[in-house]
Amino acid sequence: MAHTSDRSRDMEELIALLKRRGFIYQGSEIYGGLAGTWDYGPLGVTLKKRVEGIWWKMFVDDREDMYGMDAAIIMNPRAWEASGHVGGFSDPLVECTKCKRRFRADHLADKTKCPECGGALGSERQFNMMFKTQIGAMEDAGSVAYLRPETAGGMFVNFKNVVDSFHPKIPFGLGQIGKAFRNEIAPRDFIFRVRELEQMEIEYFVHPSRWEESFEAWRKAMWEFMRAIGLDEARVHELEVGDQDRAHYSQRTIDFEFDYPFGRKELYGLAYRTDFDLSAHSKGSGVELSYFDEATKERYVPHVIEPSFGVGRTLLALLTQAYTKDQLGGEERIYLRLSSAIAPIRVAVFPLLKNKPELVAKAREVYMALRTHFGNVAFDDNGNIGKRYRRQDEIGTPWCVTIDFDTLGENPKEKDTVTVRHRDTGAQERVAIVDLVRYVGETPRA
Ligand code: ATP
Repeated sequence: MAHTSDRSRDMEELIALLKRRGFIYQGSEIYGGLAGTWDYGPLGVTLKKRVEGIWWKMFVDDREDMYGMDAAIIMNPRAWEASGHVGGFSDPLVECTKCKRRFRADHLADKTKCPECGGALGSERQFNMMFKTQIGAMEDAGSVAYLRPETAGGMFVNFKNVVDSFHPKIPFGLGQIGKAFRNEIAPRDFIFRVRELEQMEIEYFVHPSRWEESFEAWRKAMWEFMRAIGLDEARVHELEVGDQDRAHYSQRTIDFEFDYPFGRKELYGLAYRTDFDLSAHSKGSGVELSYFDEATKERYVPHVIEPSFGVGRTLLALLTQAYTKDQLGGEERIYLRLSSAIAPIRVAVFPLLKNKPELVAKAREVYMALRTHFGNVAFDDNGNIGKRYRRQDEIGTPWCVTIDFDTLGENPKEKDTVTVRHRDTGAQERVAIVDLVRYVGETPRA
């Protein structure tokens, strides 16, 4: 395993690559940035949407027991009082008496001394992480609202609406992908800990006696998702969260941790939220949020299993594991070993030479056919072939297709075939144009 300083250097190099190649930029960069915010560029947003697409297909479209949601980010503040977030969604904060820097007390080994300047740290206090804003023209206590700190709330308050519209049988769940906001005391580690984040969350409603089997089923389903996007399973570790460390609503939590270059840290969470939320919102709103089982004639408040996935942490895990340095053809190269299921560009198409119209025309024809089929296909005729390969390697494109004179029939045996070059090995093979869609539709050999 690489030495820590190698790993942090690799991380810096990866961040530079992701900026240079249009994946992720610092938020508001030309104004000096804004801590804890990042902007996804053209390749980053494609990567993100592919990951989200796999999630949505696996957990919403492909399941009869799941319903999609897209709730408002700003909710009636009473919802956050009822859910316990106004009173309890806080992290322990300490401030240095000398340099005034602020830290999360639970992230410090020595809670008495400032890790930056060595000054004395003040006493610990709770800091609520919800972003406050004002609704409407009046700025008074009655106009306070919050940006949601998790997407879950929007699903709980719509439980009754979905039951009334679709009459689902329990167990069933709601799934949502969206932004959440947390005023983190110390945003850090690139897109790992940010203030504006994106979550993919499921609230799965079960009979109270069935929560354990559902918890197990979701635990397996989470692993399945990680496999589908190509996460290295050996770097993911389950952690049973102890009584003291669980969120206020949870009676059992498993964290899925990932070996990031800066340490083993939380990637996803799986929580058993009991009937905490539906009961709390029922009390807070005065609206009955229970379920009537027609078959057993039983009325009860369902219990909830919540698998929660951070989008940014997923991308960071995929990108850090994909960042690879090797030697190819006697030269050092850097490439992203991303699965073709999520690579922003699936295949790139090149004419061997830029100044031969018949090559360019044929290459455009192949490019258009692949693009119609896959969408994320690139065309490149800049510089020599070697440089084009390097550029595609760097952004994780699994295959490059080159159209040459043999394609046009100079060598009759090779007519209508192209060279396909593989990212990981640099190996090249000759493939018939008619077989290309099927060929690059396969997952690449790792
Ligand atoms: P942490 O302990 O790292 O602060 P958490 O336990 O508070 O995280 P949850 O409340 O369980 O996190 O949130 C669910 C998921 O949302 C996390 O597993 C993570 O993937 C993501 N997430 C939470 N906070 C952030 C953040 N500040 N930046 C990026 N992703 C986040």
